[in-house]
Amino acid sequence: MRCPYCQHTESRVLESRSTEGGQSVRRRRECLRCGHRFTTYERIEFVPVSVIKRDGKRESFDRSKLLRGIVRACEKTGITQRRLEAIVDEIEVQLQQKFGREVSSSEIGELVLRHLRQESEVAYVRFASVYRKFQGIRDFVETLDHLKSQSSAIEASESVQQNALEEQETTASIMTPS
Ligand SMILES: [Zn+2]
Repeated sequence: MRCPYCQHTESRVLESRSTEGGQSVRRRRECLRCGHRFTTYERIEFVPVSVIKRDGKRESFDRSKLLRGIVRACEKTGITQRRLEAIVDEIEVQLQQKFGREVSSSEIGELVLRHLRQESEVAYVRFASVYRKFQGIRDFVETLDHLKSQSSAIEASESVQQNALEEQETTASIMTPS
């Protein structure tokens, strides 16, 4: 890593700190020639994920667009910006791990809902109403019922893991076109 002041290539690391939820490392360095200090970031190279939209068109996954959508759904719910960014970080990692290079926009939507359900019911319903394109009050009621049944299932069950599995199956059945 070249010193930005004198272009010397050797430096020593003064401090290393994990940032962005462990996805990058920030290093404070000191140039071995001129003594200037500078900061470098080391991060995981993400495989580009392309998103298949409802109309079949593809676009590359846009982290800031996802964050904007979530921020809108979470307005006045008291969830901090830092928490929202952490959710987006988690979703990004999940996309990398689970889907590889291609993911449908509805799969992303369901991932977001799974996170929001744990944060705020208001945010959950708001996000669902936008991305599932609610047609009327009936869709709202169905989503609320779904939310309620999920919540009571969690209370009733000793195994949260089991619920996560059931939820995935439910989600899959919703998404399967009939
Ligand atoms: Zn230097």
